[in-house]
Amino acid sequence: MFDAYSHYVAYGATDQQTARDLLGSYDGLLVPGTVAAFQREGTGGFVLTLSATAAAPEYVIDSRFPLFQQALLAPKKSHEALALLLDDPSLISGYAPSPAAFTHERTQRIVSAWVDFNRGYRTDVRRKFNKYAERLGEPVEPADIRGPHRILVPYTISTGPADDWWRVSAQMLDQARQLDPSCLRVIATETPTQLNALLEQVDDEHLVIWVSGLEELVLPADQLATYARTVRAAAERGQQTFALYGGFFHVLLGGLGLRGASHGIGYGEYRSWIELPTSGPPPARYYLRRVHRYVSQELAYQLYMRDRTLVECNCDECNGQPPIALDYHELMKHSVRARAEEIEAWSRLDPITAAELLETEHTAWERVVPNLGLPPFLRPQAERSYEHLLRWAHALRLAAS
Ligand SMILES: [Zn+2]
Repeated sequence: MFDAYSHYVAYGATDQQTARDLLGSYDGLLVPGTVAAFQREGTGGFVLTLSATAAAPEYVIDSRFPLFQQALLAPKKSHEALALLLDDPSLISGYAPSPAAFTHERTQRIVSAWVDFNRGYRTDVRRKFNKYAERLGEPVEPADIRGPHRILVPYTISTGPADDWWRVSAQMLDQARQLDPSCLRVIATETPTQLNALLEQVDDEHLVIWVSGLEELVLPADQLATYARTVRAAAERGQQTFALYGGFFHVLLGGLGLRGASHGIGYGEYRSWIELPTSGPPPARYYLRRVHRYVSQELAYQLYMRDRTLVECNCDECNGQPPIALDYHELMKHSVRARAEEIEAWSRLDPITAAELLETEHTAWERVVPNLGLPPFLRPQAERSYEHLLRWAHALRLAAS
């Protein structure tokens, strides 16, 4: 998880085939606690058989605990399953709880259940092993099954050192470390400034970080720079950080000391802690490598028809075909393969070099795109597709200075 730059992908129940086909193109799986709890045997059987392959991807289970900091008026089955797994069905409530509701005794029970679940993961779901082993098309032995790479301690969204929710987080960490000293702390906040303040409070060598709602493609350069400086300051203090959710901007942060990040397959570069009523599989979109973001398949195709150099990809899915030729599953795989190559090419660049490359790319697109004769309805989308490159470059320059 803290190797050169660890490439994790978030596991969703619909991603099994993708995760299997891409073995070797990523380093680890981030399994949401909700999915692990609700599809306990299916997820466990799948993740465990993968862990026994030659590629042996790591995995960790995210407690998704901030779910329970909010009112859950229409809880999903997976929310209920996770609360039950944590031995505390009252975590599901129509009211947002106060931090005071999380007494020592209560968090002790939650943390014990979580650590037990992680420790037992290897042996719990053996029954499904054969079914998933067959699908792999590669011989795997139950003896090679691995447990979670590290136990991620349940955490809360906290706004700073004086926030009572931070006290709850710290309490759960202490309790988990009593049971397993190697447990990893997760620090989750709503802004980069809050993250910085909390990182300064702790002396962990390895940390998992998350700024809720950090929209890489949208945030102004100064806010991205604050985040980048936070990562850099942590690295300079000797703290190795891994981001729970992040897109290409997080790959760039490798040059400032970030040790890895996890991303969803085919969707988002960020995640918010507030639960939204709708969710489902990600839309079919095309990951446009030269601008490091998803665009509609329609736009990708129109660009391809006019100037192939803007879109061309020679990954195993694309083989130079037009973006429109990829089916949903291939679009997803293309995006993960692209990220793996991006990590290879970008995660070790010093920030100034990376900024220069982004600026050069921005200039190229600015020159070419307005003159392509794109259909009018696609022009605004086309122009939006590269404007973030300058903001990212600016943020890197600010953070490096
Ligand atoms: Zn491709």
